Amino acid sequence: MIHKQYGARRKGYKGLENMKDILKLDMLVNTLENEHELDKNSLAELLECKDVPILYTAADRVRKKFVGDDVYLRGLIEFSNFCCRTCFYCGLRAANSGIKRYRMEPGEVIECAANAVKYGLKTIVLQSGEDKFFTVNDLCKIVDKIKDMGTAVTLSVGELSRNDYTALKHAGADRYLLRIETSNEKLYESLHPRMSYKNRVRCLYDLKELGYETGTGCLIGLPGQTPEMLAEDLLFFKKIDADMIGMGPFIPCKGTPLEYEAEGNVETVLKMMALARLLMPDINMPVTTALGVKADDGYRKGLGCGANVIMPNMGIDDYKKLYAIYPGKGDKVETLENQINVIKCLISKEGRVVGKHFGGRIRTVKI
Ligand code: SAM
Repeated sequence: MIHKQYGARRKGYKGLENMKDILKLDMLVNTLENEHELDKNSLAELLECKDVPILYTAADRVRKKFVGDDVYLRGLIEFSNFCCRTCFYCGLRAANSGIKRYRMEPGEVIECAANAVKYGLKTIVLQSGEDKFFTVNDLCKIVDKIKDMGTAVTLSVGELSRNDYTALKHAGADRYLLRIETSNEKLYESLHPRMSYKNRVRCLYDLKELGYETGTGCLIGLPGQTPEMLAEDLLFFKKIDADMIGMGPFIPCKGTPLEYEAEGNVETVLKMMALARLLMPDINMPVTTALGVKADDGYRKGLGCGANVIMPNMGIDDYKKLYAIYPGKGDKVETLENQINVIKCLISKEGRVVGKHFGGRIRTVKI
């Protein structure tokens, strides 16, 4: 009887050696699906399984149960590629003289946001390198103007003081994205010269306390990163009660110290997404551009592993390629209309619907 069940279900357990492993996997996924908790070692074990459709389908069920079939579109505007930081993996690092720098005028940012609104988008995400040219006052004015358009505003402009985060919140910003990148302090500090892990964590707690919907996330496949570290990343997201999680593969980028390192594995990204959804059922989770660049059919795969957000790039075409965090980004410049249509088509092909509301986190799980 057990053998029959094994035979019938083995398709879901590719890469597992024996029955004991399979039963254990079943048990771990069950625990995750029902209790939304798991210890670090078990999470690391799941991350080491070769290919785990059972995990993906469980994440998809939990996504449907807690956040429904809506996929929210957030209009991304990458308004400056200047950055004062020197993160080892990032093409925008200050020391990379191989890229042409640009900075949008506030008027251009507002125009892009207005365009996104015309396409029906309900959230504008303003992202940049850490560009000190824009004062917090400048950013507040931009946020204020975009809020007048009746959208939610998400910021992703890096580490600031608590006072600055407060000013931006008062100007109307609703959400903030700041990836921890890795929750391993030693690895973090080895990749971020003159930055402090403790300050990064301080920023995330400040954002939460100030009432931002707070997004974080990590890079997957960084040199020296282990499955245990990724498991700790997941537990870190849960501990800080992140509202949004964005994760993508590390993609080696020319002009950075990690240029010749191996890239992150797409399957591991999908497993991390599925695990994040199972651990934190009511969060918002985008399919990241990096996953879209690296995986065939990355957007579709991400939507099947727990994601419920897509971020179309609503910036200015000439700048999209210059926001060169990693290679391949911005290679396919399409008209905005085409981009949105392709995304909408994918959403409906997957049996999902475009979210009509702001798509903030609706807390359904007690913490
Ligand atoms: N300055 C802001 C910040 O620090 O959060 C936002 C801009 S930063 C360029 C956006 C994200 O790009 C980072 O959080 C990082 O995870 C991702 N990124 C940078 N370099 C990457 C690479 N080589 N491969 C994949 N993702 C990368």
